Amino acid sequence: MNNIGINIEIRPNLYLRSLNENDATETYYSWLNDTDVNKYLSTKSATVEELKEYINDNNKSTNKILLGIFMGHTHIGNTKLEVDLDNKRAIFSIMIGSKESWNLGIGTEVTKKVCDYAFDKIGLKNIELGVLDSNLGAIKAYKKAGFVIVDSGLSPAFDNSKDVVMRIERYPKVWAIIQARMGSTRLPGKAMLPIGKRTAIGHVFNRVKKAKTVDHVVLATGKDSINDPLEVEANKYDIPTFRGDDDWLLNRYVDCVCDCHAETIIRITGDCVLVDPDIIDKVVTLFNESGADYASNVHPPTYPDGFDVEVFSKEALFDVSRRANIDSDREHATPYLWKKKGFFKHASLENDVDLNEMRVVLDYKRDLEILRQLEGEVDFETAGVNEIVEAYRRLDIEQYAVRNEGYALSLQNDTDSYKKSLSNSEALIERAKKVIPCSAQTYSKSYRHFAYPVFLREGSGSHVWDVDGNEYIDFNCGLGAVSLGYGYKFFNTSCRSATISGISFSQPHPIEVELAEKIIDIIPSAEMVKFMKNGSDVTTAAVRLARAHTGRDVVAKCGYHGFHDWSIGVTSNNAGIPKCVSDLTIEFEYNNIDSLKKILENHKVAAVIMEPLQHNGPIDGFLRDVRGLCDTHEVVLIFDEVLSGFRTALGGAQAYYGVTPDLSTFGKAVSNGFPLSILVGKSEIMKQIDDGVFISTTFGGDIVSLSAALYTINEMEATNGYDKMISLGNMWKDNVNSLIKEYEIEGVEVVGHPSHCGLVFDSVDTLSFYQQFMAEQGILTLGINNFCLSHTERDIMNFIRALDEALYAIKELQELEFYRDYRIRPVFKR
Ligand code: PMP
Repeated sequence: MNNIGINIEIRPNLYLRSLNENDATETYYSWLNDTDVNKYLSTKSATVEELKEYINDNNKSTNKILLGIFMGHTHIGNTKLEVDLDNKRAIFSIMIGSKESWNLGIGTEVTKKVCDYAFDKIGLKNIELGVLDSNLGAIKAYKKAGFVIVDSGLSPAFDNSKDVVMRIERYPKVWAIIQARMGSTRLPGKAMLPIGKRTAIGHVFNRVKKAKTVDHVVLATGKDSINDPLEVEANKYDIPTFRGDDDWLLNRYVDCVCDCHAETIIRITGDCVLVDPDIIDKVVTLFNESGADYASNVHPPTYPDGFDVEVFSKEALFDVSRRANIDSDREHATPYLWKKKGFFKHASLENDVDLNEMRVVLDYKRDLEILRQLEGEVDFETAGVNEIVEAYRRLDIEQYAVRNEGYALSLQNDTDSYKKSLSNSEALIERAKKVIPCSAQTYSKSYRHFAYPVFLREGSGSHVWDVDGNEYIDFNCGLGAVSLGYGYKFFNTSCRSATISGISFSQPHPIEVELAEKIIDIIPSAEMVKFMKNGSDVTTAAVRLARAHTGRDVVAKCGYHGFHDWSIGVTSNNAGIPKCVSDLTIEFEYNNIDSLKKILENHKVAAVIMEPLQHNGPIDGFLRDVRGLCDTHEVVLIFDEVLSGFRTALGGAQAYYGVTPDLSTFGKAVSNGFPLSILVGKSEIMKQIDDGVFISTTFGGDIVSLSAALYTINEMEATNGYDKMISLGNMWKDNVNSLIKEYEIEGVEVVGHPSHCGLVFDSVDTLSFYQQFMAEQGILTLGINNFCLSHTERDIMNFIRALDEALYAIKELQELEFYRDYRIRPVFKR
C-alpha cells in the first residue's frame, strides 16, 4: 500500500491528494495552534519542520494514508486512514483547519469519499474512528456519512470527556454457507469421518476457502448439541459457525444470512467433500455477469454428483422464505428457487460432457469407501474435478445411486401431507345431511355454501383442527364471533368458574348490571342495555321498538340483519314470509344518500336500520348525512353493529366514525364465541320494554356468556386489542394488494376495513376454487376474513404464501378457462 500519488476527486473544485513537504506551510501550522481547531485534537502544536517530518513519515509508512483536502488550490484540511490490512480494518481521522470551510458539509462529503476509497479500492471491511462526545458537530457529520456509535469510554487524552467510538462497515458480499449436520440417517456422523489427513467436512472447508470469489465461509449447522464437533472442527479452519434450525434448512439459511449480512450466498452441502473451488468461481462469475437470481451447476446436472454449487441473492432467498409453503420447500433451502423459473431469473453452468451419473458424494458407507479409494489416487489438497473424474474412471468404480434422494423423500411426504384425508368429515356430512337441514346451523358453515366442508373438533389460538386431524389457520373465526382466539389464556377458566356456580338463575344476577354499566361506559349510543342471544333477536327487537316509538310501520334497511321475516323477506330467500310483511321493508344503497332520501320522502318510515361499516367504509360523510335525514324525518336510526361492533373499535363503528344512532345492536365478537347479543340505545326508546313493547328471552341473562363478554371487553381494553387486529389487517391488505398487482389478476378485489377485510371475486367459481385451494393449504377463509387477537404476523405470512400459490393457480386456470379437478359449489349468498 502506497501513500504517494493518490488523487481523488470529490466534486469539481474539491479533491483529496497525497501531501508532500511543500504542503507543510504556515497555514497548515496555524491550524494546529488555533484553539478553535485544536480543541478536539490530541496534537496541539507543531513547528513547520515537524509537519514536514510528519508528512514524510506518513509517506514512508506502509499502513498510513494521509491525504490533504483541497478546495481549488487551497489546502483546507487533512484526512488519514491507519490501515490494518490483515484484518481489513482502518482507523479514520479528519481535520478541517480552514474555518471558512466549516458548516458546509465538507466533512461529511470527505468522510464518505475516503470510506468508499477504503472499501472499494483497498478492500477494507470496517472503519472506526474516535471522537469526543462533546464534539456534537463532528458526530453528526460522521453519522451522515454512515458511521454508527459502537462504544464510548473515558478519554485518555481529555479530562472529563468521553471518547465515542464510531464504526462503519461494509459487509463482505459473497458468503459460502456450508450446511452440515451430524445426524444423517444414512451415515450418522459422516461429516467427521476421516478421509486421508482431514475429516470429510475438513476437506470441504479447505477446498471452499480456496475459491477466489468467496469473501467469507460460514458453517451452518443445527442447534442440537450433537453438532458440537462440527463447530470445533470449523474453528480449526477459522470458519465461524452459525447454529440454526435443526430441521428446516430454509429457516436456517435465512437466519444465517441475517446474522452475517451476506448479500450473495453460495450454498455448499457438507456431503460434497470434493467441491471444486474453480467451479465455485465459475458459478459465482456466471451469477454476477448474468444478473440472475439463482445460478447453479445442478439444473440441469452435468457435473458429477458431489460438485454441486448453487449461488443466489439474499433478496431471492428472502422471497423464497416468504413464499415457500409446502414442507419439501422449507426442509431444503433451494427447491422453490429452482422450481419457480417464472419468479426467479436462472443461470446454469453446464459441463462439456454430461457426468451426471458419476457419484462422488458422501451419503452412504459405500461412498466413504469410494472417497477413501480416490484419496489414494489423487491429492485432495489440489485435485480439481477433471483429475478426480480421471481417477474415478481409472478405479473403474461402479455407479449405483440416484441424486437428491433426500429431496425425493420429502416430496413423497409432501404428497402424503398435502392431500389431506377428509374421510371422517365426509362421513359426518353424510350423517348430518340425514338429520340436519343443510347439515349445519348456519348457512355459511354448510357443505352447500362453504366449498371445503369439514367438521372442526378443536382450536387453540388462531388454529383449528378438523375431525381428521388436519390443522388450519382460521381466518373466519367462528363467523366473526371468536375475537380473542380459541382457548385464550384465562378465558376458559374464567367462564368455567361461572358455570360452576350456575348458568341460568331464576332471578337476575349482579353480572347483568355490571356488564350493562360497562357497555354504557364504552358505547356512545348506549343509555340502556338489553341482552339476548342472536343478532337476529336484537335487530328485530330494535325494529319493534322503533315502530312502537314512531307509530309507523315501514323500515328502510341496508345490509344483512338476520333471518327474521321483516329482514330476510326482501331477499330472494323469502319463502314462507307473508308479502304484507316484506312489503313493509324497503332497501336502500350504502354510500348512496339519495336512495335513502327517496324512501324517507315517500313513506312513513319508522326505522332506518343499517350496517354502518360496509365494503371499504362510508364515504363523503354518508353516515353523518343518514343521521341528518333521520333527524329531519323523525325516524329512529339503528346501527346494526352485530359484525362491526367489538371488532372495529371498543365503542364500535359508531365511535370509530363519530356518528351516534338512536339504537344499536351488537353480537358476534363481544364474547369470544359465547352466544350473546346486545341491544342498546336511548332510554326514552328502550324504556318502552317496561311498558308494552314485549321483548323477553329465557337465556338473555345466562351468566356464562355475560362473564365471557366482560372478560373479552376487559382483555381487549387492556391489550389495545382492536389496534393490534387492525394492524394485522393492514399487514394482510398490503401484502395481498401487492400480490394481486404482481399477478395482474382480474376479477379479484381486496375490500373491507382492516378489521374485517378480504377478497371478493366476480365469479362464484373462482371464489369456490379459492376457498378449497386455501383450505388444502391449511388456511380457512370464506373470502372475507375475521382476525382475532391470537393471530400473529406469522399467520398472516402463511396466508400470503398460500395465497401466492392460489393466485398462481387461479391465473393459470383463468387462462385455461377451466377449473379442472375442483368440485365447484355455489357459495353462500344472503
Ligand atoms: N346483523 C349482522 C350485521 C350480521 O352480520 C348478522 C349475522 N351474520 C346478523 C345481524 C344476524 O345475527 P345472528 O346470525 O346471530 O342472528
